[in-house]
Amino acid sequence: MERIECLVVGAGVVGLAVARALAQAGREVVIAERHGRIGSEISSRNSEVIHAGLYYPAGSLKARLCVRGRELLYAFCAERGVAHRRCGKLIVATTEAQVPALRAIAEAAWANGVKDLTRLDGAAAVRLEPAVACVAALLSPSTGIIDAHGLMLALLGDAELAGASLALQSPVAELMPESEGIGVRLEGEDGPGLQARWVINCGGLGAVNLAGRTRGLPATAMPRLRFAKGHYFSLSGKAPFSRLIYPVPEPGGLGIHLTLDLAGQARFGPDVEWVDGLDYAVDPARGTAFEAAVRAYWPDLPEGALVPAYAGIRPKITGPSEPAADFRIDGPAQHGVAGLINLFGIESPGLTASLAIAEWVAGKVGP
Ligand SMILES: Cc1cc2nc3c(=O)[nH]c(=O)nc-3n(C[C@H](O)[C@H](O)[C@H](O)COP(=O)(O)OP(=O)(O)OC[C@H]3O[C@@H](n4cnc5c(N)ncnc54)[C@H](O)[C@@H]3O)c2cc1C
Repeated sequence: MERIECLVVGAGVVGLAVARALAQAGREVVIAERHGRIGSEISSRNSEVIHAGLYYPAGSLKARLCVRGRELLYAFCAERGVAHRRCGKLIVATTEAQVPALRAIAEAAWANGVKDLTRLDGAAAVRLEPAVACVAALLSPSTGIIDAHGLMLALLGDAELAGASLALQSPVAELMPESEGIGVRLEGEDGPGLQARWVINCGGLGAVNLAGRTRGLPATAMPRLRFAKGHYFSLSGKAPFSRLIYPVPEPGGLGIHLTLDLAGQARFGPDVEWVDGLDYAVDPARGTAFEAAVRAYWPDLPEGALVPAYAGIRPKITGPSEPAADFRIDGPAQHGVAGLINLFGIESPGLTASLAIAEWVAGKVGP
């Protein structure tokens, strides 16, 4: 049986960042990805926004790793030529009743060390973005957009340069902790074909399932996974905005916002639909609710301009009526299985936080 030092399960943005960090620290790393290409699940079905770190409870992993990850990410993009733009965003209150929610975001941001927010009244917001309608807003200058796929290619390039190897079409079916390491069985194999001293489970939507197929892992170490689907509609035609426009958050998500891609094309989303399986279809009938949500902050949205685009699925570890969970990164100290690190609930801002998550995880990997 082949023995390796570190197996990273999953070649999404988080697994690739973790593999890069470990390989650059001199570790032997193999990345196992079940699909035939990298980043084809959550990492390619999101808003591609570099978040500033405004929304998350102070001291949470989401807050700390988002703020740190954002700094690392801007530096990495600049150094490696990954397409991105620090375009800024407005978070808008469209009614007086929403103004306290803006105040709460500003306070949470301050507690998270995000000190560059500006509070604007409606008129000041309209001076910045003449097409927007709101009674008050927050301007976040350090929010940006990024080419997520370009980021993943750059992370993979660094990881490979440092000696990591990527095994595509390699679905990990079972993990079998043994005295010397963790036996790894791929789908279709009768027994473990590989033993890794460390396994880092960055399986995204598949992470909890793999935890369930880890021998000896206590039930308390397996959260219940729930899928919260988010749909996107794109705008046919040009949007009259140069910044991202976000409403105040809704339960389960950040609200149907306007984001721009690097070519300036606008898309709107994601909404929140709790679903049972991985179905990425976008029902055009959702367009009506999208139009209403967008018109709240952009009244001049042209009739029929929203076109169904794509959907992504958030790997939630709490349900619809529960408070949002933090990122959950469990090592041996949490679950008792030597050599195993499980990453659960890596929803937004996981793209922004990816380099900081990698730093955090690499710090947990022992000898
Ligand atoms: C709708 C939506 C919008 C979002 N918007 C933003 C945003 O604007 N900004 C931001 O910062 N974050 C955002 N996020 C969050 C961000 O996209 C994720 O946190 C991040 O992409 C997660 O990356 P990952 O590597 O953990 O997961 P993934 O990209 O899903 O990668 C996991 C990989 O593991 C593989 N895998 C799973 N199980 C196995 C197995 N057993 N064997 C082998 N391979 C396996 C999968 O095939 C997959 O490739 C958003 C998320 C969603 C859903």
